[in-house]
Amino acid sequence: MDDADSIDLSDNDEFMLDVEITAANVQDAINMALADDDNSNSNLTTNVDLPQLSDELINFDGNKFGEELLFKIDNDNIEKILYQHWKTFVPQCYIYHTNLIKGIIEQRTQEILFRPLDIYLYGTLNTDDAIQIIRSYNKKSTVCGHLFKSEEPTYFCRDCCVDPTCVLCTDCFLQSEHRKHRYKMNVSAGGGYCDCGDPEAWKQNVHCNLHLPHDDNNESADDILNRLPSDLRLRAKNLFNILLRFIIKLLCTGNYQDIPNELKNEYWDGDHKNYVTILFNDEVHTYDQVIHVLSRAIQCTKQEGHELASLVDREGRTAIRIGTTEQCRDVQQTIRIRTADVPLKCEIYPNSFISLQYFAQKLLTYLQNIIELSDGFRRIFCECEIECDDELDDITRTEKALLSEKMLWKSARSALHQIFINSFFMDSEWKKTFAILYMKNYSTVWRNFVKDPDEYVSFTDLSVQVYTVPTLCYPMIIRHYRTDFSFLYRADCFLRLSVQLFTTNSLAKYLISSHNAFQTIVDSFLEYCQSKLDHGKLLFSRTTNASLQHEFRRAQSILYDLKYLLGVVPQEYTVELRENFLNGFRVFLQLLSYMHGMDKVARQVGQHVEFDPEWETAFNLVIKIQSIISSILDWCAQDKELLLGAYEATGLALAEIQKTSDISHLIKDKNNSSIVKTTVNDLKVDCYAYDVAKDPISVHIPVVRLFVGKILIKERKTKN
Ligand SMILES: [Zn+2]
Ligand SMILES: [Zn+2]
Ligand SMILES: [Zn+2]
Repeated sequence: MDDADSIDLSDNDEFMLDVEITAANVQDAINMALADDDNSNSNLTTNVDLPQLSDELINFDGNKFGEELLFKIDNDNIEKILYQHWKTFVPQCYIYHTNLIKGIIEQRTQEILFRPLDIYLYGTLNTDDAIQIIRSYNKKSTVCGHLFKSEEPTYFCRDCCVDPTCVLCTDCFLQSEHRKHRYKMNVSAGGGYCDCGDPEAWKQNVHCNLHLPHDDNNESADDILNRLPSDLRLRAKNLFNILLRFIIKLLCTGNYQDIPNELKNEYWDGDHKNYVTILFNDEVHTYDQVIHVLSRAIQCTKQEGHELASLVDREGRTAIRIGTTEQCRDVQQTIRIRTADVPLKCEIYPNSFISLQYFAQKLLTYLQNIIELSDGFRRIFCECEIECDDELDDITRTEKALLSEKMLWKSARSALHQIFINSFFMDSEWKKTFAILYMKNYSTVWRNFVKDPDEYVSFTDLSVQVYTVPTLCYPMIIRHYRTDFSFLYRADCFLRLSVQLFTTNSLAKYLISSHNAFQTIVDSFLEYCQSKLDHGKLLFSRTTNASLQHEFRRAQSILYDLKYLLGVVPQEYTVELRENFLNGFRVFLQLLSYMHGMDKVARQVGQHVEFDPEWETAFNLVIKIQSIISSILDWCAQDKELLLGAYEATGLALAEIQKTSDISHLIKDKNNSSIVKTTVNDLKVDCYAYDVAKDPISVHIPVVRLFVGKILIKERKTKN
């Protein structure tokens, strides 16, 4: 229980004030904040003062309000009452600290905002006991699903893992047989989860001792749900629906006027001093550039500029000015003018809107803690996630979130990402449901990711620029590739869910055979490649345009998805699986044809070549495609029918390439005297006389290589 006299600050260190404040010494804190302001002559710190807690905030009784909610018979009204409550209190509870570099602080949020929700959900003031009882309904979990934080250790077993993405958390590993096997330790980049208990991830020793299966294992999902009392289920469903609807409305919008009018307070439109200029993250500008621009726009010191830039880097956005519309617009204009080449993204909102959005983010964490309590809650929550709100044109809330990615910022995106994992991914049926929604929207999500880079990545540091200079040599590319560079681009994007979905063997097969996933992925990439075509071949030119360079790297990361999807070779093939694999394979051949014969060079004599043509991009592409090709060959080696289909398609592609190839430079005269007769393997053939010292050659002949690979498999098959 909360001490009613204390001011509740976030449990999140990042937003905590240095001093612990109670109602008794709140004035001291304000004085201190003011004193801070006096010391520095910066505009930054004098924008707004930490307001004295209003009587309204101090006297609010969360228990009383919670009980009021609970005893409302008519459930329909609860959303209205909550909206009214949030409209009044959220903008007071979440405010920017006087000193903007300290970000948003929280005042009595537990008592005012969350306690009433708890009381409503659990149906009692004694929520602690209720939680104990709800926990006791759970059966012991047979899967772990622990979410990895960045830099947390993970364990991979060479003997038992189905593929290298299957990992254990430390707790599970220490309690498993794998500690006696040939294991490898790794450090997580964050966002993945422990695979303990997933039969598709392990060849043997699926469960650790903590997650051993038990006797009543054949209990159905309905049984899990039915163990919760029916009134609790009803309230949970109602509350989750209200909260999710609110969260999606607030987070997935680019326009603050779009949110329901019931949530807009008096500081929304018109004249007031409570507007805020928000600076967003991007991948193009360096810290130094941002700090420099900030020092001009808001006259802050270098140190303050650095603090603000780090805050933006961590959260994805932050406030840099609070004041009237004019004051905020001035700052915005200065920033836009000073970064005219690629403007830093910077928007003006009413401060209350930012508070509501911040609250929506906090609600996601709140919901996550609730669904972790009970399998039943988790199931109800999943149901709410795939519901449609009328105004969303028939798409589910989950899809709405996936498609709104470009409007989200780092911390909001990662909060949604976590809740997807914690809800859908903990149950194979729901995971499948999510996978279908994901696949349905894959191309759009991917296109947004490639084309709208505003906020996916942090301000670049210098090492990125170093890697992209033209003097790059081959060993460096290899090293570069090994560190999975382009993969880093996905660190904060929904697309990193791909690895969780596509490496689940049965799901991958299902997505290929029933949702044509192979073709969808390649199609997306092909569509992107259209703009890079020159006479039917991919052509990359040197560019110093950083955002273009980043764009193609992001685009290439789609090839990882393909690698995951085809990573595990199926044991059985169905008609649909073969058919859709071949569909995907045919478009993949199209991609190879675009690469076949690209970057042709003729030997130069007599003059020094001053500028190397761009060759690194093609090389990077080939390296990535290599592992996909070997997966494709593995798939074909398992199934004769598939092999024949793929063999034929490759042959046709090769014939097409031959037909459309430009060979004019080889025809030396009209009598075709450049044709020579030769014998290969007792086979007489006509071919063009080709002088490698004079004629242009290309090292990229992927279709021929693929064809040879197929022939080898075919020979092996017929021998057996
Ligand atoms: Zn675990
Ligand atoms: Zn375990
Ligand atoms: Zn093992």
